[in-house]
Amino acid sequence: MNLNKNYDNLEQSYLFSTVAKKVNEFTSKNPDKKIIRLGIGDVTLPLCKKVIEAMHKAVDEMGMQSTFRGYGPEQGYDFLREAVQKYYTTHNVNLDLDEIFISDGAKSDLGNILDLFGNDNTVLVPDPVYPVYVDTNIMAGRKVIFADANGDNCFLPLPDKNVKADLIYICSPNNPTGAAYNREQLNSWIEYAKENNAIILFDTAYECFIDDSSIPHSIYEIEGAKDCAIEFCSLSKMAGFTGTRCGYTIVPKALGKLNKMWLRRQTTKFNGVPYIVQRGAEAVFTEEGQKEIKENLNYYKENAKIISETLKRCNIWHVGGKYSPYIWLKCPNNMKSWEFFDYLLEHAQVVGTPGAGFGKNGEGYFRLTSFGSKENTLEAMERIEKLFK
Ligand SMILES: *Cc1c(COP(=O)(O)O)cnc(C)c1O
Repeated sequence: MNLNKNYDNLEQSYLFSTVAKKVNEFTSKNPDKKIIRLGIGDVTLPLCKKVIEAMHKAVDEMGMQSTFRGYGPEQGYDFLREAVQKYYTTHNVNLDLDEIFISDGAKSDLGNILDLFGNDNTVLVPDPVYPVYVDTNIMAGRKVIFADANGDNCFLPLPDKNVKADLIYICSPNNPTGAAYNREQLNSWIEYAKENNAIILFDTAYECFIDDSSIPHSIYEIEGAKDCAIEFCSLSKMAGFTGTRCGYTIVPKALGKLNKMWLRRQTTKFNGVPYIVQRGAEAVFTEEGQKEIKENLNYYKENAKIISETLKRCNIWHVGGKYSPYIWLKCPNNMKSWEFFDYLLEHAQVVGTPGAGFGKNGEGYFRLTSFGSKENTLEAMERIEKLFK
């Protein structure tokens, strides 16, 4: 018996445990001070009514002989794949049903897709980054290289012709920075991928926050993307499914063998998403469901706007917030990420996430999120404005 030694190469992340430890220390010394958490990386509003109704109905069906369902299709029920197919047409993207695969969320598939690629591939990921991209590849022993995202490129790195990569991760709108690529920028990645015979793994978990026609929701809105990109999306941030679990992955048939390989992989290692959850997900794509989820999204977007406008008044450089729940700011007075964390905790009792925890280029930056309540967001911003204006 041999262990997978690649696991020894994973870096421990102390980011969220250190945040928790520091907050606990502060509250035990200052029990009367109210802490406001703007570091939350999870949705907080409940599932919308349409989703709950649909899931209740599905539960009842499961309890009756005539409507009970056992194993479903591994790639998802047709009713949900058809709903996703129709949703894509609203972004002017036409997909065949057998290019759509229902998943239990984007994180699983972002890792699982790597089954289709040799371990000798070189992987390009942006820095700072959602840690899943790096760690899933380290586990398989792949070489990981980084594309620098920084203030100079507004946290949207573009391809470097001198760098050779086989797999390219793009997350737009981005976690942690909230920055989003426009058409032209995405097109340059597609051209690079084609020149290098590379595949783009496009994570569009935050597409539903976009309300600007210059920012694509799907990479397939750009010509040629079906020849070089796999797309991952999720109902987690779109409809509050972080605990309910449902997403979808698009593997175009234009990618040749990859579509059939992914079907084979899924039918071998996955037995599908629960029927009840898929009925809930289907409800998200109905007209009423869309209206209801937009109310929740608008609530978060309003918070993001409050944060962004406060930072502007304080002359604090930042990106994001516009098409995403994340605001990525440059720490004032050249403070380092953890220095700023301590300063905000001490002087404003506002908790965010130090950018340094997302990669070396995150040093000196800080992430705030709009997933808190409006009242708390307003209060936190008043406190910040007092400190920096
Ligand atoms: C939240 C998030 C996801 C979604 O993950 P799920 O497994 O679907 O909950 C995917 N990518 C990024 C960058 C995220 O922040």
